[in-house]
Amino acid sequence: MDFTATIQRQRAFFQTGATRGLAFRCEQLRKLSAALERHESALLAALKADLGKSSFQAFATELGLVQAEIRHALRHLRKWVAPSRRPTPWLLWPARGWVQPEPLGVALIIGPWNYPAQLLFTPLASAIAAGNCVVLKPSELAPRTAEAITALVREHFSQEFIAIENGGPEVAEALLRERFDKIFFTGSTPVGRVVMAAAARHLTPVTLELGGKCPAIVCADAPVELAARRIAWGKFMNAGQTCVAPDFVLVPRGQREAFVAKLKPAIQEFYGDQPIQSAEYGRIVNARHFERLVSYLGDGKIVYGGEHNAKELFLAPTILAEMAPESLVMQEEIFGPILPVLEFDKLDAALAMLRERPTPLAAYVFSRDRATQARVLAETRSGSACVNDVVSQMVGTGLPFGGLGASGMGAYHGRAGFEAFTHQRAIMRRATWLDLPFRYPPPKLSVAGLKRALRLLLGP
Ligand code: NAD
Repeated sequence: MDFTATIQRQRAFFQTGATRGLAFRCEQLRKLSAALERHESALLAALKADLGKSSFQAFATELGLVQAEIRHALRHLRKWVAPSRRPTPWLLWPARGWVQPEPLGVALIIGPWNYPAQLLFTPLASAIAAGNCVVLKPSELAPRTAEAITALVREHFSQEFIAIENGGPEVAEALLRERFDKIFFTGSTPVGRVVMAAAARHLTPVTLELGGKCPAIVCADAPVELAARRIAWGKFMNAGQTCVAPDFVLVPRGQREAFVAKLKPAIQEFYGDQPIQSAEYGRIVNARHFERLVSYLGDGKIVYGGEHNAKELFLAPTILAEMAPESLVMQEEIFGPILPVLEFDKLDAALAMLRERPTPLAAYVFSRDRATQARVLAETRSGSACVNDVVSQMVGTGLPFGGLGASGMGAYHGRAGFEAFTHQRAIMRRATWLDLPFRYPPPKLSVAGLKRALRLLLGP
């Protein structure tokens, strides 16, 4: 496994300047959009085979989002690539200062398996918009999708512009030994650490989109039925294998049964009495994750669901209660269709408990009261947050999407994605017709005079 030649070819191509022009970037984005349409049926079949995704789900949560990202970039790219003027101090007059957005160069994008198309193509669209060459490394755990993505990329793009390398950790590790100008990684927190350590060797900037346990607090004054429906939707889509899915729910003491009573009909409405037969309900990605999830079922009392079938990699939407705080289901990221519901006595204590945990990718609060919403937002930390809904904050291109602390660093989507693959180069141009002598030794001013001059000429 030697990727040196691939990366050298990309670097040589990048250095021709071919990827920098606005016309080239737009043309490649349009090409990506058309390629996604051409390969749509292969991608849909692959997502069905890997994760049991229905076409509706695959569109709503993968291909549709990528197309929206491409459309948004095409609409705004002219503005994004434009240099922006910045003020220069009088001291330097005559001078002009501006920031020139420049592509970083050759980027590596490593993807996970849970939304294997969206989480590779969305950063790819941003990297193309920003004028980079890209090496893609899809997840080996969604092999059919990786195959469909590889066919698409190889058919429509030259290797010197967009290359794709397949394989598991050993391939990712070999790629990470190379020098890239940007590494964009989506995956687990432990592997995020490995990626950052490897990036440090070459001082390569990273965006790390990692995981964590996203809490949802349903306060006493929340519209419980709506909260239950929205939480059931966000938790059980893709069989719970969603990085921003609510991992566990907190409700005031005494309200668990009322909340669970609203969750159950929502789950039944979405997936029927026999979710194993529902075309809309997904499957666990592989036997290892299936066994890990089934082992959590003993960590609490199953108040709903719990049925599972190893042969089908099926685990029903499940609600757990009475978990010990030190149980694995309350310590590890669940990443599956198991929803622990916890009770709290005082909101203070619940928020303190959340602050002690690693910073999650998202935090959710359901309450009608603006002051309560504001308090939860002020007293918790997370990559993103959503009030009175789950997952929606990551849909669309308006809000940056990313983590904080253990859930990652950097963000993308829309302009944030363009910026993740861009260097904001600060440039100053000075005139040649004037060269005041004050800066050159020996000093022409006293220190007191210098202080006055700097105050006046460097601005407030
Ligand atoms: P993972 O970390 O196991 O794998 C992600 C990628 O890293 C894969 O392509 C894999 O081949 C590669 N990899 C694995 N081991 C490696 C190593 N030692 N060195 C270098 N690369 C290695 O994650 P996963 O299981 O594919 O995805 C699930 C995790 O991803 C969850 O924690 C989830 O929360 C997180 N996630 C985060 C986001 C987000 O946007 N923040 C989105 C989806 C998933």
